[in-house]
Amino acid sequence: MEKKIIITVAVTGSFPTKEMNPAVPYTPKEIADAAVESAGAGAAIAHIHVRDPKTGAPEFKKALFKEVLDRIRDRSDMIVNLTTSGLRLKGPRMMAQRLEPIQLKPDMCSLDLGSMNFSDMVFNNPPQWSQEAVQCMRENRVKPEIEVFEAGHISQAKDLVQKGLIDVPPYFQLCMGVKWGIEASPENLLFMKRELPGDALWSVLGTGKNQIPMIVMGMLLGGNVRVGFEDNIFIKKDVLAKNNAQMVAWAADQAERLGRTVATPGEARQLLGIRALNETVCSDGGGHGKEVL
Ligand code: MG
Repeated sequence: MEKKIIITVAVTGSFPTKEMNPAVPYTPKEIADAAVESAGAGAAIAHIHVRDPKTGAPEFKKALFKEVLDRIRDRSDMIVNLTTSGLRLKGPRMMAQRLEPIQLKPDMCSLDLGSMNFSDMVFNNPPQWSQEAVQCMRENRVKPEIEVFEAGHISQAKDLVQKGLIDVPPYFQLCMGVKWGIEASPENLLFMKRELPGDALWSVLGTGKNQIPMIVMGMLLGGNVRVGFEDNIFIKKDVLAKNNAQMVAWAADQAERLGRTVATPGEARQLLGIRALNETVCSDGGGHGKEVL
């Protein structure tokens, strides 16, 4: 079993509101503060969505992503993972708009494969778009976090790996318990893990009440885990989490009790093949010959 465990914190997502839990972050400062505070509690990766700073409505403006990225980079070497899911985007530009976070050159971006019903919405991910997103990530030296909500999405990812479009090790997020995706059960998590390519690194998330059972099982299976308000706003039944960092601290403590060691951001970068922040990008490596800071 892999001893090191990478904890991702997904600090806000697009569903929870301050009415549900007053600690849900909305502004770029609140989102960055939640990520950095979570790094102090053991998170190596921050998965970032942005919100309208005033209303908290889901947003997808490049300037908001940039402000969050800059604010985290100013204070932490944690891996910044910007979403490209844009589930609530509409209009003719939406597929192009979904690529904009990649152009900011974060360390990582989520990559969605396969279209599906997602609660009361349709999550539209045509194969051509996923391939374009992967190519855009490669050009910008961004590591894909392959989000899979059912087994067919893994098959599609394997095809992209075989075509040489995704660098090894491919990194998967097994998303368990999204309404109309694969249900969160021990049998289903084992099944999803078995479907992964042999060299894959993987993490697991569970939605709502599925969060704790799924991540504890992920810890026992040698996987990595994700917590945070995007998936669940409770620290235990009927008790709201005080903040994202409290959930990370709980996960870190639980992992240590199960014999795992929490990876630092630097260790997570090594495991995932993501360069350190002060590493020079060579001009022949597809970068721009300047330091990435
Ligand atoms: Mg997300």
